Amino acid sequence: MTTELNRNIDKAQQYLARFKETTLGHYINGGWTLGSEGETFDNLTPVDNSSLGKVVKGTVADVNAACDAAASAFDGWAEMPGAQRKTILHKLADAIEARAEEIALVESSDCGQPLRFMRQAAVRGAANFRFFADKAPEARNGLSLHQDQHTNFTVRNAIGPVAVITPWNTPFMLSTWKIAPALASGCTVVHKPAEFSPLTAAILAECAAEAGLPAGVWNMVNGFGEVAGKALTEHPAIKAVAFVGETGTGSMIQAQGAPTLKRVHFELGGKNPVIVFDDADFDRALDAVVFMIYSLNGQRCTSSSRLLIQSGIKDKFLAALKARVDNICVGHPLDPATEVGPLVHKTHYEKVLSYMTAAREDGATIAAGGEARSDLGPGNYVAPTLFTEANNQMKIAREEIFGPVLTAIEFETEADAIAIANDTPYGLSGYIWTSNTGRAMRMANKVQAGMLWVNSENNRNLPSPFGGVKMSGVGRDGGDWSFDFYMETKNVCIAHDLHSVPVLGR
Ligand code: NAD
Repeated sequence: MTTELNRNIDKAQQYLARFKETTLGHYINGGWTLGSEGETFDNLTPVDNSSLGKVVKGTVADVNAACDAAASAFDGWAEMPGAQRKTILHKLADAIEARAEEIALVESSDCGQPLRFMRQAAVRGAANFRFFADKAPEARNGLSLHQDQHTNFTVRNAIGPVAVITPWNTPFMLSTWKIAPALASGCTVVHKPAEFSPLTAAILAECAAEAGLPAGVWNMVNGFGEVAGKALTEHPAIKAVAFVGETGTGSMIQAQGAPTLKRVHFELGGKNPVIVFDDADFDRALDAVVFMIYSLNGQRCTSSSRLLIQSGIKDKFLAALKARVDNICVGHPLDPATEVGPLVHKTHYEKVLSYMTAAREDGATIAAGGEARSDLGPGNYVAPTLFTEANNQMKIAREEIFGPVLTAIEFETEADAIAIANDTPYGLSGYIWTSNTGRAMRMANKVQAGMLWVNSENNRNLPSPFGGVKMSGVGRDGGDWSFDFYMETKNVCIAHDLHSVPVLGR
């Protein structure tokens, strides 16, 4: 073990100690509570599947209490001047930055993501709050729309209390992505973090309290999707649901929210293609292909899990790729050298491993990896895997594996690439590597996805829209798109007293 790893483990233990000693509850109406029944579950670390502590299982009564608190706090928060909300949200960002090391170490221990990536979690989380904080004073502004005898203007009002339901893959960053614009808009929030990785959501709630958010503006309920998540999406006080997770769960939430006509924003699964043409910059494309599936343990919605490789460079590219995949450093998430850590949970690890069997059954070649790394101990370690000689009908090309597993498929022509890229129920993101600008433009028009990157890995720009098409999502967030989701637009029409008002019964 390296000195640095030992140091990180010691520090992480210090931060994690309190979660072992005390049951983690809910944060409702400005206070911590063990809820109505106090029933708990064990939160396991993917490093060795031991317990990091007990977490309260949210009940319907707990969710009701959180929603009532959010409803009561709504008017005060929504009516607070945007400039004041801006100040509070910047304080929240300060509080996050002050705890950056703690957030990184706790997040890595809780969800298995390598520390090298989680060091960015707090920085990016704070940046999300700062970006939307700065927009809060202008959030209500609308348009002026002129007619000859009337003038229309629009204003935006916060929609009401909202639910934010997040997954376990990069829990801290993803939660801030939703919660920051919701609060900047004037909405109050009930957050339900994923049951596999609840710890940093608690730190986030503490940061919110420290920043001086009024009681009830931010509430956090732990627990399982089927009970706590479901109750949240059904509660009549909740006006909108921002959800990140699996496509199937998104469908359930849409049905659960239908009787109360909830507005929904869904960021769901993907089977994103990275399309590498013969004329691509070989080295840059190789770096990006490796990064976009093996970083963040491949547990990333925008990961490029299907490599579409043109026949002219296929052999050379796959040979170089295999060498890189074989060389990826798998290990303890707190080791600074680690590039791929353990997968979040035993059930997910087993699901990912099941695709090794599926690949063999369907006749693909396992060019790299293809097995568990049990030599690394009792954690959920999987060898970074490359499947070659695959086609787009195989299970490994159709289903979201959500692990460090890449399926390579050969193509001949631009038209083939488009057909294969679009032959999927998903449409979140895509990546195109070519030195031909016209082709890049044609591909950008034809590939069905909410987001496309040309000659780049995933580069996030907060003012740009984020979201998917087909089974990958509903709606967009980022920049003004987030305000559109968390706010209602109202049109006010004022007459110039020039028109004739229609007359009846005079
Ligand atoms: P999941 O759908 O199982 O769970 C996500 C959240 O939903 C959890 O908090 C869970 O408790 C809750 N939930 C489950 N059932 C519910 C119900 N009936 N009602 C309300 N809430 C419920 O997803 P996961 O396994 O935690 O995360 C992995 C998935 O997330 C992958 O499919 C991945 O692609 C997707 N994801 C998408 C994006 C994106 O931006 N498109 C980003 C990250 C992750």
